[in-house]
Amino acid sequence: MQYAVIESNGSTKDIKYKFNIVNQGTVSVPLSELKVRYWFTDESSSSQLDFVCDYTAVPGGSGSVTHSFSAASGMNADHYLEVGFLAAAGSIAMGASSGEVQARFHSSNFQTVFTQANDYSFDPTKTSFQDALTVTLYANGTLIWGTEP
Ligand code: CA
Repeated sequence: MQYAVIESNGSTKDIKYKFNIVNQGTVSVPLSELKVRYWFTDESSSSQLDFVCDYTAVPGGSGSVTHSFSAASGMNADHYLEVGFLAAAGSIAMGASSGEVQARFHSSNFQTVFTQANDYSFDPTKTSFQDALTVTLYANGTLIWGTEP
């Protein structure tokens, strides 16, 4: 599981990062079985959050990407964004990767200024793809990469 920051400012109205799922197993894995969680503290309080996938090369593009926001608890996390894929996104062959998937979110009214420094998954030092244990990966609901907060 690789992550890179896109928006590295400590304060932003638009949280933005990208990830790349690497298949280190011995079989092809349907992307629809996988979910990626980005953990953060939400400064928007009651405001609705909107998700955008600006780029992915999987079949169907951003139309094959799903998402949900959920409440959570833990160090530097009271919410997570979970990104997944429809069956149309296809599979990752053994030894291959999903390719870059960009994720971005903001409050619906675009008024909330988020503090990123207190977000569990935020790492401004990773400006290009690197393994990141704070962005967690699940296969059919089971944690297979990283450490939850
Ligand atoms: Ca925060």
